[in-house]
Amino acid sequence: MTAYPEKLEKVGDEKFRIRWDDGHVSEYGFRYLRQQCRCAACRDEFTGAPLLDPESVPNDLKASKATLVGNYAVAFQFSDGHGSGIYTFEALRQICPCCKK
Ligand SMILES: [Zn+2]
Ligand SMILES: [Zn+2]
Repeated sequence: MTAYPEKLEKVGDEKFRIRWDDGHVSEYGFRYLRQQCRCAACRDEFTGAPLLDPESVPNDLKASKATLVGNYAVAFQFSDGHGSGIYTFEALRQICPCCKK
């Protein structure tokens, strides 16, 4: 079973919050989200190995836009120019900072 977001909102300039239909609330810093990007430029498609150096992501990274993709994902336009990452709800739940170990 996959949780579904009931509410998605930007919190100030640096955070994104999702309220899930099972009552869980996740808060993600945009820098953290950027570091978790799974697009082909950031992660090797075949091995899953990270191609992005997490330290290269600016500390003050913001997102200028968050767009819903169908009813299964969110795409972010980041202030470092990166905008090809699509974050499925399932992946977002998996990388929830308070759940992730
Ligand atoms: Zn990416
Ligand atoms: Zn959590």
